[in-house]
Amino acid sequence: MKTFCGRANPTTGAMEWLEEDEDYDYHQEIARSRYADMLHDKDRNVKYYQGIRAAVSRVKERGEKAIVLDIGTGTGLLSMMAASAGADFCYAIEVFKPMANAAVKIVEKNGFSDKIKVINKHSTEVTVGPDGDMQCRANILVTELFDTELIGEGALPTYEHAHEHLVQEGCEAVPHRATVYVQLAESKRMWSWNKLFPVRVEAEDGEKVIVSPSEMENCPGVPSVCDIQLNQMPSSDFTILSDVVVMFSVDFSKPVRSASAYYRVQLEPVKSGKAQIVLSWWDMDMDPSGKINCTMAPYWVKPTSAFQWRDHWMQCVYFLPNEEPVFQGENVYLTAYRDEYSVWYKLQKAREEENKADVRVDSPVCRCQAHLLWNRPRFGELNDQNRTRQYINSLTKVLKTDSVCLCISDGSLLPVLAHYLGAKQVQYFFLIVFFCFFFFLKFLKANHLEDKIKIVEARPELLTPSHLEDRKVCNILLGEPFFTTSLLPWHNLYFWYARTAVNKHLASDATVLPQSASLHVMIVEFQDLWRIRSPCGSCEGFDVRTMDDMIKNSLNFRESKEAEPHPLWEYPCKSLSDPQEVLIFDFRRTVPQHCLSTEGSVNLLRVNAKIIVFFFFFPLYGAVLWMEYHLTADISVSTGLMQISNDKGNCEWNPHCKQAVYFFSSVIESETLTDLPSAVTYAIHFDTKTGEITMDFKL
Ligand code: SAH
Repeated sequence: MKTFCGRANPTTGAMEWLEEDEDYDYHQEIARSRYADMLHDKDRNVKYYQGIRAAVSRVKERGEKAIVLDIGTGTGLLSMMAASAGADFCYAIEVFKPMANAAVKIVEKNGFSDKIKVINKHSTEVTVGPDGDMQCRANILVTELFDTELIGEGALPTYEHAHEHLVQEGCEAVPHRATVYVQLAESKRMWSWNKLFPVRVEAEDGEKVIVSPSEMENCPGVPSVCDIQLNQMPSSDFTILSDVVVMFSVDFSKPVRSASAYYRVQLEPVKSGKAQIVLSWWDMDMDPSGKINCTMAPYWVKPTSAFQWRDHWMQCVYFLPNEEPVFQGENVYLTAYRDEYSVWYKLQKAREEENKADVRVDSPVCRCQAHLLWNRPRFGELNDQNRTRQYINSLTKVLKTDSVCLCISDGSLLPVLAHYLGAKQVQYFFLIVFFCFFFFLKFLKANHLEDKIKIVEARPELLTPSHLEDRKVCNILLGEPFFTTSLLPWHNLYFWYARTAVNKHLASDATVLPQSASLHVMIVEFQDLWRIRSPCGSCEGFDVRTMDDMIKNSLNFRESKEAEPHPLWEYPCKSLSDPQEVLIFDFRRTVPQHCLSTEGSVNLLRVNAKIIVFFFFFPLYGAVLWMEYHLTADISVSTGLMQISNDKGNCEWNPHCKQAVYFFSSVIESETLTDLPSAVTYAIHFDTKTGEITMDFKL
């Protein structure tokens, strides 16, 4: 059987449905899953084990048999903990078939087949009774169904159902309770992920300000959670305005209600400032006493000794609909609203609170369309003044009074910048490639530019002279380039394909900005990110190698391993080599017929023998790849490395972009080591037919 998988085609910029082997989806799911990360989360595992032991003891002390329901068993880990702790029987429910199969194998390998029954069903399909999946209701409920937002993976409806149908009244639950905490904050950096700040341009005839449509001002944005590694956010990038307060908590040992609800707290600001965001995280008490606590609290809240790196649970940033000035000592009310799967916030001044009895439970819906067009990193990128300056400087160099410009980039401010920087009589054209026509019209209207910049609704290959109002040729082609469908850095090379498609509309001496792009590679050592792809072997004494093999098998499913996108500002790493330019793409020419290939080696620095021993077992090491755009001969912007900040090799990455990461482990793990390697060799291939880059690295 075949399945269809959505992928952006870098040669057309469009999403396409590709026929893939039926296993492809499942391999993607396993390879990119968070199971390895969870198994490496020592703090989580130890506390679950302690909580489960305590729950089994409490049930046994009451003289009852311990019957466990483990919803979402994954590898079977929590059921095996329960069985080892003396549980009489465990029902391990897992909806995802490949995982349920893995759980059966792992349970068997660890000798628990007689104590644990793996059931491949969604928990709401599980039946209880003499002929049912479960003989009787359980008296211990164990789950790990939580995401960074706590409820985003459907924990509430699952618990609601389980209490109604699958467990006894007064059952023990591990975790016993979860609590959501919040702190009010001001942060220009994080607020810039949600609103477009005015852009100032020094034009020949004075300063111009690019503004947003008024709808953007009060737009509540999109409901999807903004989950990040808040621990990587330097304290200089935000100001805390309130103490940490409990927003709400859920007791999992009692019936749980999943219906929409709201929770309101009174806050006394500890500092005056602009309330813009709510920083949030949760913790879990594994037992009723609260002595076994597992917390996601960020670095400024918890002692560093309690620190456990994890990627499956991070912290949340919620954007208030508007920024609101607050004053030290003057109370405000913060309301959290939630539906079954998500949470959002609203801040009210204390005195308004009485009259405003409105309890808005509708989740936020973007009214201005900008939040649908620009995701949060893209907002951040557009608000990055240093980056804008680079584009302004380069535009100033290439614009001439008789320029006719064509711009190809998704939701870009470039045409507006170009308009203000150019002379009055310049006629600009703006080519919209995808779906943002109406938003851009509003945007141009807000800036009174609707008759200055023309939005062309045509794909590059379908562009006709009439779209260009019969101007014969364009003499400037602009792109950032940025396209919303790009996943990996080189997918923005779609600009080159679009440039090729509009070639006949360009003057023979047309200026193309950026004039070229280059692909760069650097070998790095990850501080933590390696955990998400590293085998675990044994977890709290249970043999989980079946899971390791499954992940490895899925990672190697494609003949050529794929690089994966990660925003590296959230994942510290050290450089082990100098950055190296490996391929150049010349946008002044059309895409060549032949493919571009390169082979070479990168010298390793800062490698010592101790590290090398690990080299073969852990994907501690990887290659990072990114694009740099050469706007003009002397102005470039990097979407990857910004700088190596010290002699230890700590790297600073572009905070708005994802870089491509290629983990080494499975490629080199079987090779034997004689001498310390001093270089990594690479072969990188850009297929001009498909727009894809494949790569191979060897020691
Ligand atoms: N319990 C394991 C795995 C947790 S991951 C551990 O702690 O290591 C959560 C798992 O729950 C996933 O495998 C997911 O497929 C499964 N799952 C989520 N909701 C479920 C439900 N309602 N019924 C059955 N399985 C569910």
